[in-house]
Amino acid sequence: MGPLSDKIVLVTGGSGGLGAALARGFGRQGYRVAIAARRRDKLLEVADAMAQEGAQTLPIACDVTDRRQVRDLAAEIGARWGAVHILVNNAGIARAVSFSDMSDEQWDETLETNLTGAYNCCKVFLPGMVRARWGRIINIASTAAKVGYPHVTAYAASKHGLLGLTRSLALEVARQGVTVNAICPGYVDDERTHENASIMARKTGKPVSEILKLFAASAPQNRLIDAAEVASLAVLLASEKLGAMTGQALNVDGGAVMI
Ligand code: NDP
Repeated sequence: MGPLSDKIVLVTGGSGGLGAALARGFGRQGYRVAIAARRRDKLLEVADAMAQEGAQTLPIACDVTDRRQVRDLAAEIGARWGAVHILVNNAGIARAVSFSDMSDEQWDETLETNLTGAYNCCKVFLPGMVRARWGRIINIASTAAKVGYPHVTAYAASKHGLLGLTRSLALEVARQGVTVNAICPGYVDDERTHENASIMARKTGKPVSEILKLFAASAPQNRLIDAAEVASLAVLLASEKLGAMTGQALNVDGGAVMI
């Protein structure tokens, strides 16, 4: 392959905390980075910030649960830049709710976004990688892909499922130049984690700062994860150097989970 600017990355959920950090991480390396999410205004904010750093970005509104929109996304990136080489399936939702209080709609929405959304993107973008005999799929899972936690049954089920998709797909394309891996972050120090801490604070009557300390203490390193740390691993997984790594699920979690 030629210079990194020849390579096209797609980060789904590229307007959110971790997705924006992933997009910036690739942009700073010189890749061309398409970012997709439902809210166009948020995408444009991230694209503007990236452009100020000199990155080439393409913000495109897309709901990953809608297969037609995912096909349109591929067509638009294809028309502007060409086929995607590196797909980062990051779009995801996390709603903390007890199993008995969870509605069927919450279950469906979580599975459709976190698992089927990633499937939809793999289905549409993988053929181009296979044709090029080079590609990288990086699925952003969670430590909840490896262990269970209370009040996140749908989330944990979707992320466990994402690892099944990662491993089986990695085997199918192992001889076609495409690697498929997952990253399992712990609590990332971002807007979503702070929002979840506020929700828990309201429920428990404890201050937000105390809840954040509890989140941090769930990791042996006693800290939250910097989104840039997750982005560094994604960039490494996408590089030529890690062509032999496939089917893996790598934790970036301060030592919280060791499987
Ligand atoms: P945010 O809620 O901050 O961002 C989520 C992103 O996904 C947004 O850009 C959102 O944009 C997008 N998104 C949600 N639903 C869809 C959809 N149907 N189609 C397209 N885009 C969608 O979450 P985080 O940044 O925290 O999470 C990003 C990923 O990282 C998720 O997969 C999450 O599970 C994972 N993760 C996060 C951790 C954390 O501590 N924050 C820890 C472990 C894993 P829009 O709403 O405009 O569509």
